[in-house]
Amino acid sequence: MKLADRRTTKYVTEVKRVVFLRGHATNAEILDELRVTYPKLSATTVHRVSQRLYEDGELGRGPKSLDGSVRYDANVDRHDHFMCTMCGQVRDVSIPQACLSIIKCNVEDCSISGPLTVSGVCNSCKKMWREEE
Ligand SMILES: [Zn+2]
Ligand SMILES: [Zn+2]
Repeated sequence: MKLADRRTTKYVTEVKRVVFLRGHATNAEILDELRVTYPKLSATTVHRVSQRLYEDGELGRGPKSLDGSVRYDANVDRHDHFMCTMCGQVRDVSIPQACLSIIKCNVEDCSISGPLTVSGVCNSCKKMWREEE
């Protein structure tokens, strides 16, 4: 194995570790976390590694972050999300089939194919709000 390959393999493991630890992570979040251990790690490397993991089906993609960045998802099965519009955190949720049927009735002749993202305010943001009052 060439040195460059070995280095990439190491980052593949590390990128996966960060995404699995957090559940969901953008490239910027992955980079921030890994730079603590690897100060010289470049954004391009993280980008390349996460993209490859996605193409290989090892990572999924969740809803985009508030600034529009791609967000990788440790859970590759089909699932829905709750996303906080204040802090941008996402959480996996599973919306029951019965609800999907009701939604389907309301989109008339269009069909739902992709996962759903429900937006709102998460618990910790709600708490922060209350404390400021
Ligand atoms: Zn929040
Ligand atoms: Zn998810």
